[in-house]
Amino acid sequence: MKTAFIYSDEFEQFIYTPDHPLKPARFKLAYELAKAYGLFGPFHHRVIKAKPCTVEDLLLAHSVEYVEAVEHAADPRPEWDLLMYGLGTKDTPLPAHIYDWSRLSVGASMQAAKLVESGEAEVAFNVAGGQHHAFRNRASGFCYFNDAAVIIQWFLNNGYERIAYVDIDAHHGDGVQQIFYRTDRVLTISLHETGFSAFPGTGFEREIGEEEGTGYSVNVPLLAGSDDDVFWYAFNEVVPPLLDMFQPDVLITQIGVDTFCSDPLAKLNVTTHGYCRIIEEFKRLSPGKWVALGGGGYNQLNVPRAWTLAWAIMCGVGLPNHLPRHYQKLLKKYQIIGENDEPPQELRDLRYRTDLATKIHFLIELEKTVSYIKTHQMQQVRPRASSS
Ligand SMILES: [Zn+2]
Repeated sequence: MKTAFIYSDEFEQFIYTPDHPLKPARFKLAYELAKAYGLFGPFHHRVIKAKPCTVEDLLLAHSVEYVEAVEHAADPRPEWDLLMYGLGTKDTPLPAHIYDWSRLSVGASMQAAKLVESGEAEVAFNVAGGQHHAFRNRASGFCYFNDAAVIIQWFLNNGYERIAYVDIDAHHGDGVQQIFYRTDRVLTISLHETGFSAFPGTGFEREIGEEEGTGYSVNVPLLAGSDDDVFWYAFNEVVPPLLDMFQPDVLITQIGVDTFCSDPLAKLNVTTHGYCRIIEEFKRLSPGKWVALGGGGYNQLNVPRAWTLAWAIMCGVGLPNHLPRHYQKLLKKYQIIGENDEPPQELRDLRYRTDLATKIHFLIELEKTVSYIKTHQMQQVRPRASSS
């Protein structure tokens, strides 16, 4: 598979605020771990330097007023209510570089989209993308501009009829869902921790789309504590059948890592085992054009390992389990572990063991969701053959 990894050393320089949970060092560490495993090359597994997007790109998914508000947030016009735009909160603070950072994140996803569109890459991966909580007129949940929505609209404008967006971040992909809630050209599927216990408090089964888009928004909320097996069951019952019916021209995935069992901002119990199984399945389901976007992940020991494993699957390369020594040293340099701490040794997690009674409870609850989707969305998504 021809693959492209979109990256810039600038990714790590954009710190929101010192105590913000989103730590940009995770991008650098993911890149360095993949590099230490020898996963980049000059031909098929190329690193492409990220460039900022244009204002026109941002306007594919955002209003002029909102883009201007983010650009000039440090010097706002008197009539602007920045909080109305979701700007200047604890989650979405306004350091001076936030406009530049967001344009670089969206620009990297645009490059990924263009490489995939032209056929130069069958999959392109932007670790700094997946800003799925941003709305057309509002920042939310650490996200300012919605790169996924920008590239989906770009594909639609360039003659692509059907785009599938599948989001496995621990949090509901609410911004992407909302922007395409009334169209049948974009199928959004989000698997996430239930909104009863997790941000942003949405993403329930009954959010199925409106008007032309009825049936084209799919949500699989999972109970806190759900593990690899439960996550896989949810994915396997919903995603392959819907994609087989919808037959997208392009697959866009948000592959956040905050589903992992030690993540501080969610309560799911996924490990590298369940995560990799899903990435393998994305590879199988891809129509030959696949854009992978990063997303959440707030345990910095998890994110580089998960995204390196994902990239290795895209490249079709198996990896030894022992972490390279150079990478172990970087964990100390970036103060992910203390100077005297023993560095982690293994790339893959141990499996998380859920007791049987709890697992059965999770699966019984999940089956209600799957049944709802089978009797609603799976009846409404028009198979490709009858779409024209
Ligand atoms: Zn998340």
